[in-house]
Amino acid sequence: MTAKIIDGKQVAAEMREELKLQVAQLKTKGVTPGLAVILVGDDPASKSYVTAKEKACEEIGMHSDDNRLPAETTQAELMALIDKCNKDPKVHGILVQLPLPKHINEDEVLPAIDPAKDVDGFHPVNVGRMVVGQEAYLPCTPHGVIQLLLRSGVELSGAEVVIVGRSNIVGKPLANMLIQKSKTGNATVTVCHTRTKDIAAHVQRADIVIAAAGRPNTITAEMVKDGAVVIDVGVNRVEDASKKSGYRLVGDVDFEAIKQKASLITPVPGGVGPMTITMLLYNTVQSATKALNR
Ligand code: NAP
Repeated sequence: MTAKIIDGKQVAAEMREELKLQVAQLKTKGVTPGLAVILVGDDPASKSYVTAKEKACEEIGMHSDDNRLPAETTQAELMALIDKCNKDPKVHGILVQLPLPKHINEDEVLPAIDPAKDVDGFHPVNVGRMVVGQEAYLPCTPHGVIQLLLRSGVELSGAEVVIVGRSNIVGKPLANMLIQKSKTGNATVTVCHTRTKDIAAHVQRADIVIAAAGRPNTITAEMVKDGAVVIDVGVNRVEDASKKSGYRLVGDVDFEAIKQKASLITPVPGGVGPMTITMLLYNTVQSATKALNR
């Protein structure tokens, strides 16, 4: 069997077209969805993520508010900016780009965001609401994975899903979403991590394997059963002298070998990656819609 490739760029482009229409409709009612983007410091990777998010907002007609603060910004100054954004009716979503400089405590800063504007879905109120199955802003990368699966026609109900990785931003929320008693859940989920005794034994019985370990070749072809769906969240740089940059990006799964066994597989890049920003736009448009109806 040769797997069909799930084209994340294509799915993301379709969703962004849908969002563009929703933004145009909101504008006719006098509301332009607005995202406040806050970056502290000058980490090059964070700068490029923030620029990509602002460009994506612009492309679908949303407003983005660019707040780039110097690395020496104090936690009090950052909290004051968050408070200002919380109160600004033109801001429907607030995104604080992570990681923050070491002198700023992320655990104190993120809860300062108004849960109604927490479009990253990291606020404990939204995490709690998600866990108990109430309406919440869902964290972008795991929600993007679920959209990729659903829009590729994958049946989640009753599926055996094995997730490798238990971080707060990918593995844990994804597991929670997939076990919900809802049409975007109803799966039977196993979560593996570095203390799991025999990862291969778990992965071998999975209908859907989701790799989010941050390590190349964590999932090899021998571990995957014939016809499984394989979603690769990992993004890793490996040295490659043939590239001008000296490196290339790979995921966590042995893509070429697994492609011969799986039924569906996501590539890296071009799989989960394009969905993450799309789901951020999605959450911000939801927030603007709710603000209009309040
Ligand atoms: P993280 O915080 O480092 O967590 C990695 C998780 O994987 C941990 O739970 C760790 O277990 C587990 N793990 C690591 N090596 C393992 C191994 N050999 N076997 C089993 N489990 C292992 O990483 P993250 O933030 O979740 O990100 C994971 C990957 O996804 C990274 O490559 C990241 O760049 C990528 N990512 C991509 C997107 C996107 O938009 N495409 C978004 C977010 C993240 P322990 O808990 O036991 O340490």
